[in-house]
Amino acid sequence: MKNNNAPRGRLAPGHPPCYNLPAMQEIRSLTLVLSDRCNFSCPYCPQRTGKNTLAFKDIRVFLDFLNPRLAGEVWLGFYGGEPLSSWPLIEKTVAYTKKEQRTRFRLTLTTNGSLLKKELILFLKRHRFALVLSYDGLAQKYRDPGSVAAVERALAGLKELYPEGYTVHSVFTPRTVPLLAASMRRLMGQGHARLQYALDTSAPWGKADLAALEKQLCRLLAIFAEHRRRTGKVPLENFKENGRSGVFACFGGRDRLALLPDRTVWGCEMFHTLLGNDPHAPDYAQFCFGALEEFMSLPAKGFNAVAANYAELRQDYFFTEKGNLCSLCANLENCSVCPAAAALATGIPAVIPEWTCRINRLSRAAAGPTRRRELNLS
Ligand code: SF4
Ligand code: SF4
Repeated sequence: MKNNNAPRGRLAPGHPPCYNLPAMQEIRSLTLVLSDRCNFSCPYCPQRTGKNTLAFKDIRVFLDFLNPRLAGEVWLGFYGGEPLSSWPLIEKTVAYTKKEQRTRFRLTLTTNGSLLKKELILFLKRHRFALVLSYDGLAQKYRDPGSVAAVERALAGLKELYPEGYTVHSVFTPRTVPLLAASMRRLMGQGHARLQYALDTSAPWGKADLAALEKQLCRLLAIFAEHRRRTGKVPLENFKENGRSGVFACFGGRDRLALLPDRTVWGCEMFHTLLGNDPHAPDYAQFCFGALEEFMSLPAKGFNAVAANYAELRQDYFFTEKGNLCSLCANLENCSVCPAAAALATGIPAVIPEWTCRINRLSRAAAGPTRRRELNLS
């Protein structure tokens, strides 16, 4: 059967679209992108800044409308731009969620940390937020040289006041990857309980960059092994077994939704980052549920048609720019590529740039389970 709704190039040639997956399940995760304003302009950030900010009444209407479909426990994430520049919205939304009896909201917030003051940390602690603080260690000076002192102050405040409540998330690019191992060593030495790093794959990684990455991963594994031997602690999330197995699938639009500052609703904010700037692009209608009012008046058929497009985003349907099928790759069950992040480089959802494959394979060889077992780390 022909799938008329399939966005161009999204399905691997010769692969039938999957019709049997449930389009929309109970909602377990909601993201509120409060504003597209940010006081940083990080070179690798794919989001475009603007002047849009959500109104509290939109958040309330969104939560009320979805209420019958919410699971017993729902992750509610505050995101931006910089979400702390919309602090009153966070306070009002938290107060509103406390009135809800049937659903327990677990709160998360992703911040660049520059506006994080003591009273805010105490509020976030009181409401048991899981914070993600974005800080690139020794590479922070390439991201925003003026930000280093403020973010390090915020980190020190978090460590003192809410040590169990945050993860430090660091991003490395081809330019900054030579600082990866030293940055992680410094952060581990500072005693932060949870760290994770990510690589910016929206820019090309050449041969020399990949060689530098391999060297850094070998160094990092040795630093990590030594840290664990000395302290008994395992702060680096990247090297923890996640216990997952099977083929990765994107759950955007299936058990999660996002409300964006331009009042549109998406299966995941990453798709808005990818497509949100061009409502006339053919893929926009495939992945956007419309503006808030439109979303709330969508007939089930229209709603399910968009959700079904997300349901086809499975790793075994993806392929690389050169046409190599993930379904035939020996690494399939160890690979999880965000289809929207891949499209930031290739322009087509779920088509993966070659360097992402090389990074994934190299990371697994340099620091995957086999290497960790050899070093007695698993
Ligand atoms: S895989 Fe990407 S698009 Fe899908 S839910 Fe995760 S972050 Fe969002
Ligand atoms: S390594 Fe590349 S081809 Fe293999 S599953 Fe991952 S993304 Fe697909």
